[in-house]
Amino acid sequence: MSRAARTERRLNIAILSGGVGGARFVRGVVDVAGSAATSVVGNVGDDVEVLGLHVSPDLDSILYALAGLADEKRGWGRSGETWHALETVGELGGENWFALGDLDLGLHLVRTQALWAGEPLSAVTTRLAERLGVAARLLPATDDRLRTWLETPAGTFPFQEWFVARGHRDEVDAVRFEGEEAARPAPGVLEAIADADLILLAPSNPYVSLAPILAVREIRDALELRRVPCVAVSPLIGGHAVKGPADRMLQRLAGGTSPGHVAGRYPGLIDALVVDEADADDLDGLGEVRPIVTSTLMSDGDARRRLAEVALGAVPA
Ligand code: GDP
Ligand code: CA
Repeated sequence: MSRAARTERRLNIAILSGGVGGARFVRGVVDVAGSAATSVVGNVGDDVEVLGLHVSPDLDSILYALAGLADEKRGWGRSGETWHALETVGELGGENWFALGDLDLGLHLVRTQALWAGEPLSAVTTRLAERLGVAARLLPATDDRLRTWLETPAGTFPFQEWFVARGHRDEVDAVRFEGEEAARPAPGVLEAIADADLILLAPSNPYVSLAPILAVREIRDALELRRVPCVAVSPLIGGHAVKGPADRMLQRLAGGTSPGHVAGRYPGLIDALVVDEADADDLDGLGEVRPIVTSTLMSDGDARRRLAEVALGAVPA
């Protein structure tokens, strides 16, 4: 459907997203579809307690991207960041393996205090988004404790220990989500999915960014029972991750890095997969999933918006 027709009908979009890769795409979708139409369900499996603070790296990547505060060159965190607090932590022999900048710390202080006072993560996130001028709806997948663990030949690690402290060097044999049985969707998540005219899966890591969201039973069920199209964007270009371990994980856990292997992570959950031109020569194994071939590298604002336009074009007229 064209942009004009979409605006006319005020189509609602729900996006499931991880952190940095997802945030880039979310920003493109918000640019094209508008903030009022867009709800984002963010991963909390990466959340971590550092120095007594509750850090939600994926929610924060989305917040910073939508607020225009992200450091696009570094690829994570805030632009204009300084590191004085962390330097002091190091000098004092404190825990400094997880990079928290001074500007970023301010947000974690506010969030942590609110959580200690009993406010749910979803309510704090809404408040932070409002204060940062983010008009799109950003919801954590769940307010409950859900944590990603990686089983590797070197042992079993919590997500950030594997990803940051060990530089995701260990091959992954299995991914587990602590708390998945009890986790309920955060308020607003099922409504956002039910109200959506189109559901999108951002080009995020299937195993450690989107799987933790889909591990919340009711979210997965809502996608399985959807009456509207669900379109995923592949995080691979030419069989390689733009950044991070998605390609290695797919190779080891799914047996390959073709579009079919990516689609295989979302059985019964997606109707189409946006794949890069560099992957268009091997579309076997997609089954019922329709390939949408385009250039998927989000190198700048124009590229982000172009990719969003293609994904949004999957809404039937
Ligand atoms: P994280 O939570 O910060 O690790 O971020 P995500 O899981 O949301 O995104 C990581 C994924 O984004 C990686 O697998 C990258 O390959 C993918 N990615 C990053 N930039 C791009 C891009 O420009 N195009 C595509 N197609 N994928 C991208
Ligand atoms: Ca993440």
